[in-house]
Amino acid sequence: MLSDTHCHLSYLGERGLDLSEVLENAAAENFRLIIDAGTKSGDLPERRALVSAALAHIADKEKKDKAVSLVKYTAGIWPDPGAIANRTEECRTLERVIKESLESSEPVCSLGECGLDHHWNPAGADNRSEDDFSPEILKGESELFEMQIELARRFSLPVMVHSRDAFEGTLDAIKNCGYDNGEIHCFSYGIDEARAFLDRGWYIALGGAVTYTKKSKLEEMKKLVTYIPSDRLLLETDAPYLAPVPERGKTNTPLLIKHTYEYIAQMRGETVENLAQTVYKNSCDLFCL
Ligand SMILES: [Zn+2]
Repeated sequence: MLSDTHCHLSYLGERGLDLSEVLENAAAENFRLIIDAGTKSGDLPERRALVSAALAHIADKEKKDKAVSLVKYTAGIWPDPGAIANRTEECRTLERVIKESLESSEPVCSLGECGLDHHWNPAGADNRSEDDFSPEILKGESELFEMQIELARRFSLPVMVHSRDAFEGTLDAIKNCGYDNGEIHCFSYGIDEARAFLDRGWYIALGGAVTYTKKSKLEEMKKLVTYIPSDRLLLETDAPYLAPVPERGKTNTPLLIKHTYEYIAQMRGETVENLAQTVYKNSCDLFCL
């Protein structure tokens, strides 16, 4: 009954996890939906092939059929410096990939993840340098984002937005394009920022990081979590990253999303079942499933 609206299944194998087992267990646990998010312009065929190979290894036919029906895909370009530098060509590739998918029996359900990432640890902990944040790169990053919003508009797809330490730039790009159809994935801002996106019609997706909230910030987090209207809330893992408490620090998988559901359901004063229905319905509405 649970849904994970954003994860990266193709990275699980690289981290030593058995993707077949994860998908088989998701089917056994009655998951409703798992959305595999793209990060590179041409990565969709490879991601599909990896998932198909994993599904082929599930011996139990009933679970296999269920697992096959669970996984949906998106395609988009994450703003790394290489993609920003080659943005015109990258967007052309993405356009071709999306067009082909929309003409196939397995159309992508969203364009993304795309957006702005201005997080930088000067100690070098995240392998980014000052050069990655030059005015030229920042301008190119916004252009790459806006080009993808325009593509989403052309194909009438919702946008899966990545926005880290870049609230104003994200909102500006969205306003410039005037296409309000999508979600802010792994939402990491406060209630005012949530309001700005919600007022324009966007959905807010919460991930495992909400379970990391310190005691001193719990009230603030509760206000945010209860502020998001029931018809605009999504939940996700961003697996293999950001495993929720009590599994924090481990490789995340869609299966661990139950902890995030429990955390959010308790904060909102509702049952996990109710929350799961809400998230699934919202996913169907936004992603036209
Ligand atoms: Zn992601």
